Formats: sequence, structure tokens, C-alpha cells
Amino acid sequence: MLRIGCHLSSAKGYLAMGREAVRIGANTFQFFTRNPRGGKAKELDLADIGEYLAFAEEHGLGQILAHAPYTLNACAKDEGLRQFAYETMCDDLERLAHIPGSMYNFHPGSHVKQGVQAGISYISDMLNHIGEHGFSTIILLETMAGKGTEVGRSFEELRAVIDKLEDAGRIGVCLDTCHVFDSGYDIVSDLDGVLDQFDQIIGLERLKAVHVNDSKNPLGSRKDRHEKIGEGQIGMDAFENIVTHASLRHLPFYLETPNDLAGYQKEIAMLRAVRRKADE
Ligand code: FE
Ligand code: FE
Ligand code: ZN
Repeated sequence: MLRIGCHLSSAKGYLAMGREAVRIGANTFQFFTRNPRGGKAKELDLADIGEYLAFAEEHGLGQILAHAPYTLNACAKDEGLRQFAYETMCDDLERLAHIPGSMYNFHPGSHVKQGVQAGISYISDMLNHIGEHGFSTIILLETMAGKGTEVGRSFEELRAVIDKLEDAGRIGVCLDTCHVFDSGYDIVSDLDGVLDQFDQIIGLERLKAVHVNDSKNPLGSRKDRHEKIGEGQIGMDAFENIVTHASLRHLPFYLETPNDLAGYQKEIAMLRAVRRKADE
């Protein structure tokens, strides 16, 4: 079974997202835990969550992925901003404990000229503090495009964060196809080679989710501009390999392409058709 969905607006709550997902042929979805540019989360609505869980069970929805706000920077220069990142993540994880099987994805951060080593230390420090709470949700570090001073643009940088953790048992990685392509990993002509590298450096058992996005820009451009599937520099052939690859096919896939719901519906149907053909 292909587990696939797209990014949805969380403004109307969980049940609304669940209904939307089912309507467009998805069996999972991603959402921001709060305004992506920061700010307070809505009050936790346990009735909505209860209704969502019943709906999800009935319709086979699962493995939903919460995305931390972009403003969360675990390796900011300012201590107050680092504290904000920690508190936001704690609050998000406390909420997600109500949704069994969900995962939490975040951008490792931007070191803002403090150097990548300092960035890696701050990120692992935060995760070590988070770990003290014993949250049950799996936390994913997202692979980044490497624009500006982003940490996590190489598998080695993510490995370095993981190496500094006291307990990495609940830490995984989310592979964003646009980001890794923009950071220089050639998933178009050498997907096997890229996944081998991932396995050697991080370990494929840590790979828990895939963001499926085409890229407006060429390999190694470090830009991070998403494009619709098959309409960018990555191209449809590569996505056929990605959704059918033996090392990836069991993972949940989330579209973050520039689309409205109808566009997402089309892309989901297209990728499902690719999988069906491969499985025949
Ligand atoms: Fe992201
Ligand atoms: Fe992404
Ligand atoms: Zn992106």
C-alpha cells in the first residue's frame, strides 16, 4: 500500500484535515502545528481529536506528520530564540501525544555565521533537553537544501547531530527530494548511490518519511524552490524511481508542491498509478 498525502492547512482542526485528505485520495497528510511564521498554537481541542481518530480509523488514515514552524531555530545566535525553539517543540510534542503514530518534523536550523559545528551542538543540546521529557512522538530532522547557513544540507551534518544525542532512539530523518537535489545529491541519475550514501552515513533505518517535491532549480543550486511533480528539474522518471524504490516504498510520502487541493489530488493519483504499474 502506498502511504501518500500532502500538506494541508490546520486552521479548521484535525477532523477537517482528515476529511480533506480522504476527499483527494490521500491516506495521510502533513500540517503545521501552528502558524509557520511563529506564534501561539490554537487551544488543544480534544473533542476534535477524538472525532478525527475515529474518522481516521474508519478511513485508513495514518502516520500523519506534524511540521514545526519555520521560525523555530534550535541554533539561533540569540539565547532567547533558542529557548523559544525548545519551548515550542515541547508544547508541540505534548499536543501530539494525543495522536498516536504521528511524527514531528523540523528544520534543524540556521547557524547564522556561528559555524556549522556550533549549530550542530545547539541542535543536539536542544534535542537532549527534549529527550528528558520522555515524549513518545518520533522526531524527524529534515534534510535541507543548504540555502544561507542551514544546517542539515549533507547527510554528514545530520549524522553529527545524531552522534551527539544521549538517546537517539526516537530520532529519525525526513528526506525532502527538492532539498537533497538542491544540496547536490543526484537523485535523478543515481538514486541508488544517494540512498547507499544515506545508509552508510546515517543508516536507512533512520529514514522515516519522504517529502516529495520537484525542484525549480538545478542540482546543487541550494535554492529550495519547490515545483509540481514532473514539472521541475527532477522530473517524472526520477519520481517513478522514488515511489517504487525498495528502500523507500514502505515509507509515508508527503507532497509539498505548489498546488491547490485539486492539484494535489492529481499528483496523488499520478503517483498511485506509478506504484500500481510497478506492482503488476
Ligand atoms: Fe520542511
Ligand atoms: Fe520539506
Ligand atoms: Zn523546502
